[in-house]
Amino acid sequence: MPARSLVFAAVGLVGLSLALPAAEASNPCPSDAFMDVSNSPGAGDGYPRPRLEVQCDGDELVVSSNAIPHYEFVQITPNPLVELNRDYRMPLDPKLAEQPSPLPLLGPSGVAINGIPLFGPNEGPVPPPGFGDPVYNAIMDSCMGHTARQYHYHALIETCFDIAREANEPSPILAFGWDGFPVYGPFGCRDEDCSEIIEYRSSWEQLRAPRIDAWDAYRFVPKDGIEYLDRCNGHSGDDQGGAYHYHATATWPYIMGCFSGTPSADAGRASDRQLSRRDGGRGRPPGDDPRPTVEQVSRAAEALAIDEAKLAEALRLTGGRVAPMNYVAAARALGIDARDLYEALGVTAQLPPPGARGGPGGRRRGVGPPLRGIGPRRARPPPGRQRP
Ligand SMILES: [Zn+2]
Ligand SMILES: [Zn+2]
Repeated sequence: MPARSLVFAAVGLVGLSLALPAAEASNPCPSDAFMDVSNSPGAGDGYPRPRLEVQCDGDELVVSSNAIPHYEFVQITPNPLVELNRDYRMPLDPKLAEQPSPLPLLGPSGVAINGIPLFGPNEGPVPPPGFGDPVYNAIMDSCMGHTARQYHYHALIETCFDIAREANEPSPILAFGWDGFPVYGPFGCRDEDCSEIIEYRSSWEQLRAPRIDAWDAYRFVPKDGIEYLDRCNGHSGDDQGGAYHYHATATWPYIMGCFSGTPSADAGRASDRQLSRRDGGRGRPPGDDPRPTVEQVSRAAEALAIDEAKLAEALRLTGGRVAPMNYVAAARALGIDARDLYEALGVTAQLPPPGARGGPGGRRRGVGPPLRGIGPRRARPPPGRQRP
């Protein structure tokens, strides 16, 4: 892939048309789901042309893009729009995992049909102290995209993908998750005969204003009704012949709430390499989601002189819950410095942003209810044990 990126860089690229698959794989290559961005208006004067190539390679779907939108770029966040050339590799024949797994707290979790990466439903540490719902915080453009190190989506708007859908038609695929499952737009057939078009809905409920710590501001509450989706915002619905898929929804988590399948490890690693290079190799980019072990939590609680149950609660190591690990938020909840928490746990993957202090700061007070969930009801919750 490095060689390939170099070639692209050297050619200076016009938006390429889709490289269509040699139909070798048992599963049909979904390259038709992607846009041809070569004739699009592009991001505007002075920006590189969008580039998107899609092919299937053995048992993988390979999407290669430069993360430049195919429509006019309107700057919302302070970061400039820059090209990020990379390949996204996903399983062509996705399978449901035994357990859902969390999305990365930061960084891509999939790719849209125009080659723009999807991020999870929380922002990074902006506005401080951060990790809020970026849609709620109104820091998205009209296509629910904005720039960080790269242009990315936190929600999907069907019309932004040049889709002219009739009211009696179901939404097409708008994206693919790292686990290979497709993300359809919100509207789908009620049943196999498509007797009616219905809007699929998230089952997450808002508990408080999600200005900060979005994962703490929403709660998954399973609901009856064919239109309600699972925790990951997907279902094995009759609208797609029982095959599992996600739907983009009008409310949080907007795209996916977790991975129902197994995310491709390659996808994440490629991202790390790219970002590290652009960063001048300074540290690992955030986005990994390492869960501390029972022993790590136990040792850290002792080192920090905090109750082990309280620490586990702040880290949200609760049974059955799939939420990304947010050490900065955990430190804030505990009223300690984030760096002390990192040190005590012996983790380094998620570097706190410069100046991010986990001190009390009074932020949490008055914002909403204190941390719910397990509380100190059980003396020694077994953090981590529920998660393989
Ligand atoms: Zn963002
Ligand atoms: Zn569906």
